[in-house]
This record gives sequence, structure tokens and C-alpha cells, in this order.
Amino acid sequence: MRPQKEILEIMQVFAKQNPNPQCELNFHNPYTLLVAVMLSAQSTDKGVNKATEKLFQIADTPQKMLALGEEKLKTHIKTIGLFNNKAKNIITMSRQLIDDFGGTVPEDRDTLTTLAGVGRKTANVVMNVWRHQPTLAVDTHVMRIAHRLDFSRGKTPLEIENDLMKVLPSEMVVNTNHWLVLFGRYICKAQKPLCGECPIYDYCQCDDKQQK
Ligand code: SF4
Repeated sequence: MRPQKEILEIMQVFAKQNPNPQCELNFHNPYTLLVAVMLSAQSTDKGVNKATEKLFQIADTPQKMLALGEEKLKTHIKTIGLFNNKAKNIITMSRQLIDDFGGTVPEDRDTLTTLAGVGRKTANVVMNVWRHQPTLAVDTHVMRIAHRLDFSRGKTPLEIENDLMKVLPSEMVVNTNHWLVLFGRYICKAQKPLCGECPIYDYCQCDDKQQK
């Protein structure tokens, strides 16, 4: 595993390039953030934003989502992968919010993960983006980059999350999540990474590295 000093140097490169990175999902409040993150599993943020543009005008609270109903919700999100299951979970989750949490989105991970369709990764994104809490959501991009740059040799998202949380100062964790996701989405892609544009080229020794 790469020494902590080098991991922090790499994060400083990202910080210089993008001091204020943002989540690319559109949302209006914690509830719409939670719905958008649930929809984004195995789907692109761009595709989710397209579908939620109209949906969130109609249903931006759990009450309005229940009033819309599962079948109509499906018509709004049918372009998104696994939409049947996601619609079912969003309706159940909305009901839970109303019945158990006064219609508000809980702020801690243990409670968030009691909601239908909400796993650790989704909870981490919501806590990070809405509350700026130091959480790391390890998705496919973060996992790939962690391995390519030898931040972690963990085999599961949780192992990688734990390895990174050990070496990153907590004030850096919020932005690190965005930096790694954006870097994976636009530069260090799964297929044909854009190594010629890579700001941390000299740090990389992975097998996927392309000559400049
Ligand atoms: S050099 Fe290429 S493979 Fe290595 S981190 Fe940069 S983009 Fe990814």
C-alpha cells in the first residue's frame, strides 16, 4: 500500500485543481438527494438528472412521492436501470420517513441504513453531500482508483473505505470522495484511461497506465 505521505500529496494535486468539488447529482433538499442517490446505483448521474428534472417538480417530499404513487413514479424513472425495484424502494422508504421520522431524512448512517434500498454507500453519499460529514462512499470509480494507485489492496468497498479513512485527515475526506469519483469518471476511466491528461501521472505505476 502506498505510503500515507504520497496519498496526501496526490490529494493536494486534486485540491489545487479543484478546491471545491461538487456532487454532480441535482437535488433540492435532503429527501431529493436521497432519492437521487438511490436512483444512481448502476446508472449515470446524467441519466438520473434527466429523469429527476420533472419528477422533483412534482414530488420533492415523501408525502408528495406517496401521493404520486409507485406506478406513476415508474413512468418518470423508466429510463434508469433497475427502475422497478428502485421505485418500490423509494415508495417504501418514503413511507418509513413519514411513519418513523416525521418526514425528515435521518442524519446518521445507522439510521439511514434502516431505510428500504439504503445501503452504506448511499448513506455515506447523503451524509457527505448534505451534512459535509467525513464519509467515503466507495463506488466502482473509487474502488478502481484505490487499486490503480495502490491506496488500498482491499477487496471490498468497506475494506477500501477503512484503509482510506485511516490515512486521510477528516477535513479532507469530504472532498476526497468527490475528487476520486470525478477523476474516475473523466480521466482514470475503466476502459482507456486518459493518461495523457492525468495530473498524477508520475505517481502511477499500475498496469493500465498508457504512455503519454
Ligand atoms: S496514469 Fe492513467 S491509469 Fe494511472 S492514474 Fe493516471 S489516468 Fe489512471
